[in-house]
Amino acid sequence: MNLVHATTQSRASGSAHEVSAAAITLQGVRKTYGRGDSAVRALDGVDIDFHAGTFTAVMGPSGSGKSTLLQCAAGLDRPDAGSVWLAGTDLSTLSETALTKMRRTRVGFVFQAFNLVSALNVRDNILLPSRLAHSRPDRRWLAEVVARVGLDGRMRHRPAQLSGGEQQRVAIARALSVRPDVIFCDEPTGALDTRTAAQVLTLLRHSVDVDRQTVVMVTHDPVAASYADRVVFLADGRIADDTPAPGVDAIAERLAHLGGRRSVGGAAQW
Ligand code: ADP
Repeated sequence: MNLVHATTQSRASGSAHEVSAAAITLQGVRKTYGRGDSAVRALDGVDIDFHAGTFTAVMGPSGSGKSTLLQCAAGLDRPDAGSVWLAGTDLSTLSETALTKMRRTRVGFVFQAFNLVSALNVRDNILLPSRLAHSRPDRRWLAEVVARVGLDGRMRHRPAQLSGGEQQRVAIARALSVRPDVIFCDEPTGALDTRTAAQVLTLLRHSVDVDRQTVVMVTHDPVAASYADRVVFLADGRIADDTPAPGVDAIAERLAHLGGRRSVGGAAQW
């Protein structure tokens, strides 16, 4: 296995990068699901920049709007109001076709449930984004990515023949394969044991520190969030706190103080 080593040192030593332009900007983003009494305001006016080459963890109680934030930022869902800028483009100006094309070339996704295609082997899963984008894969980059995630000997295996940690490493290789501007992760370690989770987080950290990728990760785990440069806390669809690299204990304490969410009508929802 050729997993990269922990890069917390580069964070701690401050060698981390100068903060540069925003890879993603959300301005006044609102999103409501349902209507009338049952309407739920999932996002209630979110303004935030995710700077290029940084790793942000998004946390908050269940129902606070984390997944909706990720979906809107990634162009998977359209806000009711406000705008989302990805790599300098206002997503609201794009047709569905242009949005899909942009997602395929500029964005990578890593999900809790891995979301690999079971009928395809590891190699074809990793190559899928390039195939969908009708772009020629960069063979050298793919070899580098495969070596980095420690999957050299597994290219002909199907997902079902791999452990959860290996499947998540395939998903990370797939996300990295097109050299996206941003990798969005929704609970990427939620289904993994502690040791395997650490490997996955180290890979994400490495892609920020070495490749200057931008990572935005939803997590409920303070240890996972401690790998990030910044932790954004949501509550009731709003940003409740935005803190540079707090420690595990500070993250857990902040989470404990955030409440559940409320519907537009005011009834608590848990
Ligand atoms: P989180 O990821 O923090 O758990 P979500 O973004 O998934 O929060 O959801 C925020 C709120 O919006 C929740 O109250 C949830 O029930 C509601 N919600 C999310 N998606 C939908 C949907 N497709 N239809 C109706 N309500 C939704």
